[in-house]
Amino acid sequence: MSCNHNCDTCGEKCYAPQTDQPHELSRIKRVIAVVSGKGGVGKSSVTSLLASAMNKKGYKSAVLDADITGASIPKMFGVNGALEGSETGIFPATSKAGIKIVSSNLLLENETDPIVWRGPIIANMVKQFWTDVIWGDVDYMFIDCPPGTGDVPLTVFQSIKVDGIIIVTTPQELVSMIVEKAVNMANMMKIPLLGIVENMSYVLCPYCNERIDVFGNGDAVGAVAKKFGLPLLAEIPYDAKLVAAADGGKADTVECEYIVPAADIIESGLPVSDGH
Ligand code: ADP
Repeated sequence: MSCNHNCDTCGEKCYAPQTDQPHELSRIKRVIAVVSGKGGVGKSSVTSLLASAMNKKGYKSAVLDADITGASIPKMFGVNGALEGSETGIFPATSKAGIKIVSSNLLLENETDPIVWRGPIIANMVKQFWTDVIWGDVDYMFIDCPPGTGDVPLTVFQSIKVDGIIIVTTPQELVSMIVEKAVNMANMMKIPLLGIVENMSYVLCPYCNERIDVFGNGDAVGAVAKKFGLPLLAEIPYDAKLVAAADGGKADTVECEYIVPAADIIESGLPVSDGH
């Protein structure tokens, strides 16, 4: 509560991040971590849509794929091949539209090879994606965190200077519990929560364009957002176009109007909630 951001003179036990320095040739202005309670809710899709939306606005955007064992970002952007490096560091891959990407999948001989490393090695890799990669100039970096609140997300928040966290959830998830966990984690790490993106929340009737809430639980996510004082940044329907774009490596170019409100809020830098 009384953090003076000087850990040398403070005897408190806390989880406030003592972040590592990025590579000396990296100038990264804003870092936003995208989290979810479990896999398959569209966290990587939302991460790539956000990076792409900021890129379309004219910002230099980047994705650090910290979902080491479930890395899907390169495929979504149609990027493959091994990352190149020099004595100074590793160079990120670049998507067609110019989004910089680093992912464990770009270090594998075969993108279908499984990653069978244990937690600490995986966590260390994420750290190196921050410290050893020559990111150059980046306005907005989005981190695709692994789902849940395990080792790796903890490393992300302890070693990378994250400016804000976005939670992705679907209406079927136990939204309240997931959001509460994320709020608690953000508070422990002293990182602001930017808000919630509700994904696969409804479908649009192809004939009359009427919204159909297939999960029939009304505005569950909105209610939870309100309860925790978090903005609902975007509501994304189930949209086959997004699957096609992700599978076809077209995350760069897909038009997704639903993500625009979230991108506008990120651009404005507000509102930021402390989760209380
Ligand atoms: P996560 O990162 O949470 O595991 P992904 O982003 O990989 O989830 O998404 C899981 C699957 O759901 C992917 O096939 C993706 O294309 C699809 N998907 C995600 N969001 C949507 C959406 N709004 N509409 C349709 N399909 C979606």
